[in-house]
Amino acid sequence: MYKCEYCGKIVKSSSGLKRHISTCKAKKEVEVGNDMPKDSIESTVDICNDKKIQKLLDLRKSTYDAHTRNLIDMQINELRG
Ligand SMILES: [Zn+2]
Repeated sequence: MYKCEYCGKIVKSSSGLKRHISTCKAKKEVEVGNDMPKDSIESTVDICNDKKIQKLLDLRKSTYDAHTRNLIDMQINELRG
């Protein structure tokens, strides 16, 4: 058994752990926290956009309507600049 050091999730294999860590939200938050200069407004904006993009990506995964997906893609592209 392997345990994610960031969120404590248990996975069965080392490859599963690698895969989990690449998507682990707790890990992302740790890394963002470490990288972020506390007085940088720009970084904060970037992180907000990342979170929005992540939400949109989640939404996109759960939606099967082509029109809605296009709208989500457009929003993601705007957020990414
Ligand atoms: Zn994790």
